Amino acid sequence: MENSRKIYLAQPHGMCAGVRRAIATVEAVLAQVHEPIFVLHEIVHNTHVVRDLASRGVRFVEDLSEVPDGAVVLFSAHGVGLECEKTARAKHLHVVDATCPLVKRLQNAAREAGLRKRSVILLGHRGHPEVEGIVGRMAPGDPIYVVENSAEIAALPENIGENPCRLCQTTLNTETVNRLSGELQRKYPTLQAGPGVCYATGERQNAVRALARVAPLILIIGSKRSSNSNRLREIAEESGSRSFLIDGPEDLPRNELSEAPAVGVSAGASAPESFVEMTIRELRKSGFSGVEIVGEAIPEPCFKLPRF
Ligand code: SF4
Repeated sequence: MENSRKIYLAQPHGMCAGVRRAIATVEAVLAQVHEPIFVLHEIVHNTHVVRDLASRGVRFVEDLSEVPDGAVVLFSAHGVGLECEKTARAKHLHVVDATCPLVKRLQNAAREAGLRKRSVILLGHRGHPEVEGIVGRMAPGDPIYVVENSAEIAALPENIGENPCRLCQTTLNTETVNRLSGELQRKYPTLQAGPGVCYATGERQNAVRALARVAPLILIIGSKRSSNSNRLREIAEESGSRSFLIDGPEDLPRNELSEAPAVGVSAGASAPESFVEMTIRELRKSGFSGVEIVGEAIPEPCFKLPRF
């Protein structure tokens, strides 16, 4: 009986093109620059990635005031606002911008709407660096409203001008975005939809929905600060499975696993594949066997590294 307990692995899962690019950018700078390098915020929201880079000398800071004038600084995959760029110029920092191109697309759409005096409604989580960076692309006084739920949409002013632009954080739940977009469209009939949830988020969420059809317990490998990993865990639960967000095999929920007839595994867009492999090895030691893929391989885009 023990040996028939199967492992189901979601396809696709794990690192996306934007995260790979951001990490490869830090690696390339580390290889070529022989002075301390600084990264503003976590380069990607993954504990293991940040710990590994820090052990190799990368210094992570939360504010540019912590970076000496003239130093090399990388902006993380989540992007920054105009004010941050201005501060970097004033401090003569050598900036390497690892903002994901799909986040840049959102930032540009916000900026363009602001220049055309159109209101922007941004679906997203206040305080998340990606959202802060998009809001920070608007000029002072340009109207931008960040909303997270139906109640906040209901509280928006009735008149926000013609052709407001709807944007959304790249890592939101696609079903939530569809529902909230419908509510916005009914409130503002001239609303125009701009860029939103990225390919990686949508594909990984669909794979977890499929995983939940066969796995009563689902492990999502990713860190607590990772928005897309949290959404995957929520989607697994909404789809009827128990789900746990774990950084790696050290966090396995052993009590729940001992009762589970099968286990599903997926990983957030910032989780290294090595932690997926280690988790599967540990599951095998705990009485699970075989790995069945759920979903289909989808080719990933490849983004060029930024110049520096
Ligand atoms: S999750 Fe999407 S937007 Fe974020 S880094 Fe990956 S590809 Fe870019």
